[in-house]
Amino acid sequence: MPNIRTVSQAELDRQFEIMRLLCERNTALPERPLAFVDTYGCQQNESDSEKIRGMLARMGYGFTSSEADADLIVINTCAVREHAELRVLGNVGALTHTKRAKPGQKIALCGCMVQQRHRLEKLKRSYPHVDLIFGPYELWRFPELLDKTLRPHKGRLVEARQIDGELYEGLPALRSGKVRAWITVMSGCDNFCSYCVVPFVRGRERSRSPEAVIKEAREAVEAGYKELYLLGQNVNSYGKDLNIHADFSYLLEEINKIDGEFIIRFMTSHPKDASDRLFETMARCEKVERHIHLPFQSGNDRVLREMNRGYTADYYCKLTEKARLLMPDIALTSDVIVGFPTETDEEFEDTLRLVERVRFDMLFTFIYSPRVGTAAALMSDPFSREDKQRRFDRLIELQNRISLETQAAHLGRRHRILIDGIGDAEGRLTARTLCGRLVHVEGGPELIGSFALAEITGFNTYSLTGRLLEN
Ligand code: SAH
Ligand code: SF4
Repeated sequence: MPNIRTVSQAELDRQFEIMRLLCERNTALPERPLAFVDTYGCQQNESDSEKIRGMLARMGYGFTSSEADADLIVINTCAVREHAELRVLGNVGALTHTKRAKPGQKIALCGCMVQQRHRLEKLKRSYPHVDLIFGPYELWRFPELLDKTLRPHKGRLVEARQIDGELYEGLPALRSGKVRAWITVMSGCDNFCSYCVVPFVRGRERSRSPEAVIKEAREAVEAGYKELYLLGQNVNSYGKDLNIHADFSYLLEEINKIDGEFIIRFMTSHPKDASDRLFETMARCEKVERHIHLPFQSGNDRVLREMNRGYTADYYCKLTEKARLLMPDIALTSDVIVGFPTETDEEFEDTLRLVERVRFDMLFTFIYSPRVGTAAALMSDPFSREDKQRRFDRLIELQNRISLETQAAHLGRRHRILIDGIGDAEGRLTARTLCGRLVHVEGGPELIGSFALAEITGFNTYSLTGRLLEN
């Protein structure tokens, strides 16, 4: 039997009952109360916010995109880098004015930031206008917590008890858009990369049962979603904590068998766990995207050791070669950290060398940001912000050149695309190729959610332009 700790059905039923009662109360009001939900950080947070919206809709709330009009503001925070945290703190600080102008307005904060003790203390001390604070694993209790917050009571409610809380199934999600469905396959992370706060705020790795994931995938396809996006901090260790024979490749294979026209994407893969079996499965499953996001973080072996990444630069490069051998058209994207403590200029050159060698389609580049509680935050760091910025600029310049060259290779080619949204100008739509490349095409909004064939007619560093050949 799989050893999965999930919230009991009785507990969930209690939350559904509270949602029903709140809905009754809200629909009896002369005007429907409005909620504003703001999300920072990764796709997991996007997915959690869809559940918050789903629960709010069940409780009779409408939605607004203006903080000033909202009766309830929920801010789903991120803790991965300081920049995101400072933005959240600044924006939450500014809500004192909004709240003063709209008495009765309630403000809730959730997500990874509140799970750090030093941030929680600061929030409690300096942000008295926040009414409710809850951690990622209290999300399923949101109806109960909100209900308590709305009742007359003293002070604020803080529920951020555990980083290893139970998984939950069956919460309603209000998905944003009709094309993409986020599907979490696992929570938490066991890797403890020395720079990263995730294991401290999201706890140990816990996989959902394969049946639950496959059921959610099937329901999403039946509901008309065209892109199933499987999420986990390290999807390649999916199933290791379960007492059964199911790994991530098994999930891909099973979801690939579901009838219907859709595409399976996933994020994130850790290089130390990306196996031949994963690449072979990707190559075999026609609905799985021809793209892998495989963060390498640094091209220098000493830095990689200090980061506790568990592979060498050469191992990483060979991994990408294997993937390309099996899937010549695969797109490779990655994350890099510049200026990890003690990284020298020479060691940074190895990162540039790796980027030249692999030739990524796209890179997400970050300047190192110390995180309280992590091993790297205790390392001495003789290099200045300016040193790091200089390295960062060189990396961007190199990648921009490579991106332009890889993009240019698509000119004149035909790609199957999934049209997924409104574009940046009148009559323009956004789409993704099966390799995840962004394409702008012309067309009306009725095409959103359909697959089409496009010929690539233009490009820049970040996107392609295409002409529709079908529809
Ligand atoms: N689980 C994923 C990534 C999670 S965080 C993985 O291991 O790939 C997303 C990215 O943020 C990381 O890949 C890393 O490049 C960056 N990151 C994480 N912690 C950081 C820090 N302290 N400073 C700068 N960038 C960081
Ligand atoms: Fe953070 Fe490393 Fe886990 Fe990714 S694998 S979430 S970088 S600790």
